Amino acid sequence: MATIYAITNQKGGVGKTTTSVNLAASLAATKRRVLLVDLDPQGNATMGCGVNKNAVEHSIYDVLVNSRAVSDTVVEAPESGFMVLPANQDLTAAEVELLNEIGREFRLREALAQVIDDYEYILIDCPPSLNMLTVNALAAAHGVVIPMQCEYYALEGLSALLNTINRVKQLINPELKIEGILRTMFDGRNSLTNQVTDDLRRHFGDDLYSTVIPRNVRLAEAPSHGLPVLYYDKQSKGALAYLALAGEILRRAGKKGQVGIDPKN
Ligand code: ADP
Ligand code: MG
Repeated sequence: MATIYAITNQKGGVGKTTTSVNLAASLAATKRRVLLVDLDPQGNATMGCGVNKNAVEHSIYDVLVNSRAVSDTVVEAPESGFMVLPANQDLTAAEVELLNEIGREFRLREALAQVIDDYEYILIDCPPSLNMLTVNALAAAHGVVIPMQCEYYALEGLSALLNTINRVKQLINPELKIEGILRTMFDGRNSLTNQVTDDLRRHFGDDLYSTVIPRNVRLAEAPSHGLPVLYYDKQSKGALAYLALAGEILRRAGKKGQVGIDPKN
């Protein structure tokens, strides 16, 4: 049965999509069966995996609004060994169309239930807002991964996110927990970074991943080639960091198996 993680933070540009795509690729590189769910109408995760969001026949919109089967909607990420449930701007309409539906918070959970035994990890790339789509992700997830940029305003807005997570937990998904807080675009030379790290550690303790994702230009370049960084420049600091994150997640899950590529090579 798959473990489902919602990768979320209502701030834009904090590394949600970069984390979703590259964690999916890294987990797939360890031979895990992975599904990446693009839940952002911008479709950046879809494109970043090398799938043309405007050319797909069906998308997550059809799954959420028209009850289309997930297994008939997923496409393979070229070269990367995982599956993608693609999104494009059609998804913008889903929020409005679901508004009057009974059980609208559970559409994604119900859809993923059909394929939960086909995968070991399902990662959901959330949109940059706390809207009905994000609530669908939180209702479907076992854990939340929160990417954070260690900058001055990093903690601003965090309480709104934590409140939403708690509300979802109380009302619709009692099993939901914070899987981890991930520091992204990390620059250890910046003293502010260390201050934010201290704050995060005080607040989240062991929920703070020890893996940090450095600022790395290869991570920013890879999406324009439609590739996870692992297949764009596997020696890059970004690639190694996401492999390390996959390793940390697998260890945390208490599952056997190491990352397939030795980061020291
Ligand atoms: P979000 O999905 O939270 O909006 P993205 O993952 O799209 O954020 O990242 C925002 C921008 O920052 C993108 O252009 C992305 O390529 C870049 N980026 C993300 N993580 C890194 C990193 N570790 N190093 C350098 N650039 C990064
Ligand atoms: Mg994004």
